[in-house]
Amino acid sequence: SDVGSQKKRVVTEEEWLQKWEMGNIGFHKEQGHPLLQKYLGVLLNGRSGLRIFFPLCGKAVEMKWLADMGHSIVGVEVSEQAVKEFFSEHSLPYCEEPVSEISGAKMFQSTSGNISLYCCSIYDLSSSIVGKFDGVWDRGALVAVNPRDRQRYASLMISLVEKNSSYLLVTVSYDPNKHKGPPFYVPESEIKSLFG
Ligand code: SAH
Repeated sequence: SDVGSQKKRVVTEEEWLQKWEMGNIGFHKEQGHPLLQKYLGVLLNGRSGLRIFFPLCGKAVEMKWLADMGHSIVGVEVSEQAVKEFFSEHSLPYCEEPVSEISGAKMFQSTSGNISLYCCSIYDLSSSIVGKFDGVWDRGALVAVNPRDRQRYASLMISLVEKNSSYLLVTVSYDPNKHKGPPFYVPESEIKSLFG
């Protein structure tokens, strides 16, 4: 079936950079995601001042929203353009510095210190570099991971969360024979086998 043909498809980092350059970023939404608003209570679980991770973050506006609520945000994104657009579109001053543990990587941090965006591949990260997180907002992330890398992605994410953490995952349910994306179809059975 087509789920099979999707499984072999690969979107390269180059292609993602190109999407950003061409402004081909239909996935970016100016409005905060309604499901984050709906399940915010599940993410926070009565806690304040959380460390929240945004894998494959793009320039997700929810990072600003949660930071303004007093949480500290860490994101990772391959496109430097995306990272810079995030800070400039929210008028946030920032500084950038190399990440000593990852060659070629940079970390962009808001001057106020509560938003840190790593510009590198997520597969370069580990808990010794970024620490562990109390919460994860995974929207447009697992579904954008190449199917051949899903297991690696899930294992990495599991290694990056604290025991008492909440992980909100957004996927899209559709007939993969009728639609090509967004970018990859992840059936619920696979989510269960990846995350347990
Ligand atoms: N989560 C964001 C963006 C989703 S699109 C949102 O909700 O808007 C997926 C993003 O992942 C793109 O911006 C792409 O540039 C980035 N990306 C793709 N592969 C990546 C990788 N291996 N490491 C880090 N970022 C990656």
